[in-house]
Amino acid sequence: TAPSYLVGLVGAGVGPSLTPSLHEREAAATGRRLIYRTIDIAELDLPPESVADLVPAARRLGFNGLNITHPCKQLVLPVLDGLTSDAAAIGAVNTVVFDGGSAIGHNTDGSGFARSLERGLPHAPRERVVLLGAGGAGAAVAHALLESGVRTLVVADLDTGRAAELAERVGRRFRGARCEPAGADDPERLLAGADGLVHATPVGMAHHPGTPVPRELLRPPLWVADVVYRPLRTELLRDARSQGCATLDGGAMAVFQAADAFQLFTGTPPDRERMLAHFHDL
Ligand code: NAD
Repeated sequence: TAPSYLVGLVGAGVGPSLTPSLHEREAAATGRRLIYRTIDIAELDLPPESVADLVPAARRLGFNGLNITHPCKQLVLPVLDGLTSDAAAIGAVNTVVFDGGSAIGHNTDGSGFARSLERGLPHAPRERVVLLGAGGAGAAVAHALLESGVRTLVVADLDTGRAAELAERVGRRFRGARCEPAGADDPERLLAGADGLVHATPVGMAHHPGTPVPRELLRPPLWVADVVYRPLRTELLRDARSQGCATLDGGAMAVFQAADAFQLFTGTPPDRERMLAHFHDL
């Protein structure tokens, strides 16, 4: 009989997530049975801290693993038995694999972004890159950018304390690179001399419309990547394209984080391009 898997997604408001379909369709395409359940803490009226009960419960119920999303990616850390070095450095977990008796935390947001950048903007210069947004997604992206060879990373956030903390943390891990914290109130100064801009704040999402950077500051050869993927075409990317900048939307990151999690859950490499095609069908 075909191998079978039971996995899930814990977070608030995860009902509409496309991740379950991505995993289930890829499993079917590779001759596996995989059931992917959402565990929506908002719908269940549970506090974010309840992830600490849900993870051991899922393990006892026979789940192979879980994806973890907002607002539980850090709250899950104390109940895990181990972390990959990436997850430990990022300080957040989006994938838990139950292996034997233990629960190991991984972070595939970082690896997903790295793959997406490699695929979508393979020749983008990376001497000086500005990361706008030092939250959960920003932390994963910062590590991925430095891993991919960025020489100077400017970490900017409205919350300058957060920017400073992340710049300090990644700077300690990547000693050959420069990591500079910045505020977000002077985008012109922020972008001066930058090769690329990666946007990792919620601005541009359906319930958070707008753009954090005035259109006229987006000029080639600057490239612009957005991690927001609902919608795929954010105002920032529309502006950047209209100005002639090379761009990358958040879709491939969302798909490739799922692909990397699929590989961890099943032990089998997925067909990433097929998963991306599924995503665009959904
Ligand atoms: P978060 O709340 O952890 O962090 C957001 C950060 O942005 C905060 O530090 C906040 O201070 C900062 N910020 C908000 N508005 C700003 C502005 N105008 N200028 C500068 N900084 C500002 O959120 P998160 O979990 O990091 O998510 C951010 C976005 O990334 C969301 O839209 C989420 O959907 C997206 N995301 C995408 C993927 C993907 O796979 N494509 C994965 C994870 C998150």
